Amino acid sequence: MNTIEMTNDYITPTYSRLDVVIQKAEGCTLTDENGQTYLDFTAGIGVNSLGYNHKKWVEATQNQLSQLQHISNLYYTKPAAELAGKLCHKTGMQHVLFVNSGAESNEVAIKTARKYGHETNKEKHKILTLKNSFHGRTVTTLSATGQDVFHKYFDPFTEGFDFIDADEPKQLLDKADDTVCAIMIEAIQGEGGVVPLDPEFTEAVSKVCQEKDILLIVDEVQTGIGRTGTLFAYEQLGLQPDIVTSAKGLGNGLPIGAVLFGEKVAGTLKAGDHGSTFGGNPVATAGANIVIDTLTEEFLDQVKSKGQYLKAQLEAIEEVADVSGLGLMLGISLKSQSAKDVMLKAKEAGIMCLTAKDKLRLLPPLIVTRSEIDEAVACLKHILTVQEKEAIT
Ligand SMILES: *Cc1c(COP(=O)(O)O)cnc(C)c1O
Repeated sequence: MNTIEMTNDYITPTYSRLDVVIQKAEGCTLTDENGQTYLDFTAGIGVNSLGYNHKKWVEATQNQLSQLQHISNLYYTKPAAELAGKLCHKTGMQHVLFVNSGAESNEVAIKTARKYGHETNKEKHKILTLKNSFHGRTVTTLSATGQDVFHKYFDPFTEGFDFIDADEPKQLLDKADDTVCAIMIEAIQGEGGVVPLDPEFTEAVSKVCQEKDILLIVDEVQTGIGRTGTLFAYEQLGLQPDIVTSAKGLGNGLPIGAVLFGEKVAGTLKAGDHGSTFGGNPVATAGANIVIDTLTEEFLDQVKSKGQYLKAQLEAIEEVADVSGLGLMLGISLKSQSAKDVMLKAKEAGIMCLTAKDKLRLLPPLIVTRSEIDEAVACLKHILTVQEKEAIT
């Protein structure tokens, strides 16, 4: 039996996969089991921020792997302590809690907000999130997710969430009453179709939070760790969140999640309030230290300029209606073609892309080069142009 058959026979089919078996990768290039190569504009859905086989990252994780692989949070370890210190110094946040995924990070953010609310007033437990948001796949993070398609099959869902339309400050003001302990937003809605928020709206969110002692939680699981050209995307929106959640790109290939706590909630969680056996794993945090060290100002400026370069080239393609997003997190609206068809054709032509709702979504490793961008754009342009001609005839 081959890998595809075995997977289909034995792995629960919660994902629909492309029919390719990836065997190894280097930089931004994937190689399948037949030796065919692909330029990767997915980064493992925003995870492989430094690409594949990044020398320093491999060295740091391998060194750590040969010293100590795991030791529970009953003891201290250096890689986790150093990573937490770096994250706090770079953001001005005060504490970090390490977990293993984006959903778990958001789960911790929600628990913290509830505890903070309860300490003020027993009724202060509601969390407002945005319609079209995505916050994860556990029952509670699905409950927080503002899309009806995710609210099937698994009820009863966790209570205490309400949804507002993004960019509707009036709804925000109506719903932000004394029962609300937190507002949770993504800086750019990722799974929802790479939808940025209007800065006027985020300013209103920020104001309401300050006036009503409501916590601002920013879910930076996809947008964070340099993806948009700053360490976190909230910096570009002028926000000062109380809680920031991170995961994907921080791991660069190993599972990790991190929740950053600002002043207001730095003392909220105490011994016993949350636990996660693998949280802060020494190998994962040794690697994440390299990710954070690599994201210098200069590196982040490169992400911004490569993002602008990619965006401008895509916008010049006739079939492209619009390109949304920031840095190297881009969503492409097509005039007449289906994003999924284009994604499949791109794979045949040697470029891996993603979709998000009805858009084509690009999340290349942050180390992508301009010549790799040129190659991907030329390929997409070819596919989109050929399709256009077919559509006319
Ligand atoms: C991917 C994602 C999550 C979920 O992360 P997992 O690691 O898959 O649990 C949560 N929020 C956002 C914004 C995401 O993009």
